[in-house]
Amino acid sequence: MNGTTVILVCYGVSKQVEIKVLEKDDRNMRLLIRDVDVPYMNALRRIILSEVPCMAVDEVVILENSSVMQDETIAHRLGLVPLKTDLDSYSLPEECECKSEFGCNLCRVTLTLDVEAKEGTRPVYSGELTSENKDVVPVSDKIPVVKLAKEQKLRLEAYARLGKGKNHAKWQPVSMCAYKYYPKIEISSKNCDACGKCVEICPKRVLANKDKKIEVVDLLACTLCQDCAEACPKDKPAIKVSWEDNAFMFGLESTGALSPERIMAEAIKILDKQLKEFESQVKVKKSEAN
Ligand code: SF4
Ligand code: SF4
Ligand SMILES: [Zn+2]
Repeated sequence: MNGTTVILVCYGVSKQVEIKVLEKDDRNMRLLIRDVDVPYMNALRRIILSEVPCMAVDEVVILENSSVMQDETIAHRLGLVPLKTDLDSYSLPEECECKSEFGCNLCRVTLTLDVEAKEGTRPVYSGELTSENKDVVPVSDKIPVVKLAKEQKLRLEAYARLGKGKNHAKWQPVSMCAYKYYPKIEISSKNCDACGKCVEICPKRVLANKDKKIEVVDLLACTLCQDCAEACPKDKPAIKVSWEDNAFMFGLESTGALSPERIMAEAIKILDKQLKEFESQVKVKKSEAN
């Protein structure tokens, strides 16, 4: 999928938005997005952080805990274990038809833990949680929950629900989500004498001196720090670093709860819905004023 270009039309944006996938694997995605502005990029970023739902443990019933760790700390740790999320099969508790505080099998998944340190001291890992749904399990089996000394036991039931990052960070589907301007580097062949000072100072190795000619070898790594322009000994620097208007690099790193492309698709769907609601409210207000 790397390097493909997708044309997306989002409600409220008058023109088409061009998205190019620069890098992608099962956890990370880096996109080049053109023909958008800062408010749009920021809306997308904020929606990913606060509105795209994912599963997390929200309630824990401790049946037995003879470890040295308090019940509350164990419950808090379980809440922070990222869970693979099946967004198509579950509803947010507040939108579920059951209208029950306890939840039903459309808005709640039960995970159980039953461990005893029979032989001696041992850690308890996230992988020891047993889920009633094989699609909603910890992203990693190796997250330590607690350490048990010999003969200590931990038995509990944990209830996971869909939630949003705006209510608690445990429901954020990403560990990183940020954007930056797309860099533009111009080197004046008339002024530049290939002294190499800009190449030496660049912390990101964006530039290279090839056959007495300065070339941009890794444009996407540029952080726009301007060190190269400041290091240029010419009165008017022979190198100019700026950025493209309305083009951004957008990066996100999933916790593993959802795939990066699903997170992006959900964020765009939510933004679209919010803009439609906003438009209908403006229309209502306008008709009230008339
Ligand atoms: S602005 Fe900074 S990162 Fe970009 S090329 Fe110049 S020195 Fe390197
Ligand atoms: S520091 Fe200035 S003159 Fe020297 S190579 Fe870089 S751009 Fe050219
Ligand atoms: Zn329900």
